[in-house]
Amino acid sequence: MENTAFIALGSNIGNRYDNMVNAINKLIQNPSIQLVNFSSIYETDPVGYEDQDLFLNMVIMVKTSLKAIELLDICLKIEIELGRKREIVWGPRTIDLDILTYNQENIVSEKLNVPHPRMLERAFVMIPLLEIDPNLCIPEVEKPLNILLNELPDKEGVRIWKRKNGEDVFVPIGS
Ligand code: ATP
Ligand code: CA
Ligand code: CA
Repeated sequence: MENTAFIALGSNIGNRYDNMVNAINKLIQNPSIQLVNFSSIYETDPVGYEDQDLFLNMVIMVKTSLKAIELLDICLKIEIELGRKREIVWGPRTIDLDILTYNQENIVSEKLNVPHPRMLERAFVMIPLLEIDPNLCIPEVEKPLNILLNELPDKEGVRIWKRKNGEDVFVPIGS
């Protein structure tokens, strides 16, 4: 498991929590993917297309022996298994799995862009990402992530929903 990837999860249709837990369980059922860390779950106001229900968002850290494109294909397959339909850009979805980073690689292709091109401008990604790795370096990004987060306008749209280490501890594996 020589590669490290951070994956952002989002859901705003159906049982959002179950969708996220099911997606994580499906990911780690793959023998080539190991869950290393996961953030709290946040409830967030929709961004981009606002006429839709609130999202749950979180970020996980995995180790994998898969190539980035293979990891993407697994993610896209899980989205379909969990009922994802692509109708409106940035619209409602049962589950969205975005690869944020893959090692320190820069990947630019038709199917896959890593680091995820819009991650730095999204508080719903940056807040959970910082929670699990405040020192993460993003290729070609000079500023520390916490400075970038502080500069973002929509942080109040991201509220803790289920804390990882608190009274409402949750265990995403096999629960
Ligand atoms: P956004 O990418 O702005 O978050 P979205 O997640 O709603 O929007 P999707 O419809 O889920 O967009 O994805 C469209 C395509 O984006 C996917 O089919 C995939 O090929 C491509 N893609 C490119 N880079 C990535 C990445 N880093 N992670 C996931 N998908 C990616
Ligand atoms: Ca997305
Ligand atoms: Ca996506």
